[in-house]
Amino acid sequence: MADDSPSSAAVTIVATRFAPSPTGRLHIGHAFSAMMAHDFARAGGGSFQLRIEDIDTSRCREEHVDAILEDLRWLGLDWDGPVVRQSERLELYAAALERLRAMGLIYPCFCTRRDIAASATAPHGGGGAIYPGTCRGIDQRHRLAGEAHCWRIDIARAAALAGPLSWHDDRAGTVAADPLSHGDVVLARKDAPFAYHLAVVVDDAAQGISDIVRGEDLFAATHVHRLLQALLDLPVPRYHHHRLLADAEGRRLAKRDNAPTLAALRERGEDPVGLVASLRRAIVDPGILIPTLFSG
Ligand code: GLU
Repeated sequence: MADDSPSSAAVTIVATRFAPSPTGRLHIGHAFSAMMAHDFARAGGGSFQLRIEDIDTSRCREEHVDAILEDLRWLGLDWDGPVVRQSERLELYAAALERLRAMGLIYPCFCTRRDIAASATAPHGGGGAIYPGTCRGIDQRHRLAGEAHCWRIDIARAAALAGPLSWHDDRAGTVAADPLSHGDVVLARKDAPFAYHLAVVVDDAAQGISDIVRGEDLFAATHVHRLLQALLDLPVPRYHHHRLLADAEGRRLAKRDNAPTLAALRERGEDPVGLVASLRRAIVDPGILIPTLFSG
């Protein structure tokens, strides 16, 4: 844990992944991200893996999993190895959570959304509210059996234990990890067995991912991921947070409804080869792609 160097000395084989959540149809922004991760792997003679992030069973749908595979095949973005599904790997996340528990770094939280909204402070840079720490440091074991709760990490304690950390991002350079800016994030949810932050670091390590290529909307999450990697003794991948495609008004497409789905593009007869070629051109200028797609 003392080693702060995000060096990749131990990881020489390039492996990337595309990790969509099957909560809806893939849109053109997803295709851009998948293409970036695919091309990065292929350029390095490495593997491009597909992971379905489906731990949140209330929001994920099996039909969307099938559609993701169909969309990627249509685009010609072939992946290597079996499709990894988070819903089949819960024991790995449980073991990681247990390890953090044994280190005294997690605590149960019984707060409702409303409790948190009433007392939380807004994080800088937008996003969700920072948890005010209401349940931290209180012995609430007697409530565990009967009441809904999540598990949070005591982020200040964890960060103090890990010491200063950094990671490398190819656009941002060396980034000093600032996990405290996220507050005590949830690692195991009330409504789903585990949370994204925990599952993603466990899986990236288990799959031997050397290079994480994903949208810049996930840049900030890396502060938490880097801390969890240190606590769990996981290797530190290199990061490539790419710019997001923008629509004709300049609005970013990620996690928005303003993007055409790949299914819609396919149905209207769009040529996938031409589409991927224009996605590759959009690497230089993420704004150039969308006007052509909206004019159809
Ligand atoms: N499952 C996440 C999403 O669909 C992506 C996770 C990641 O790339 O780290 O937004």
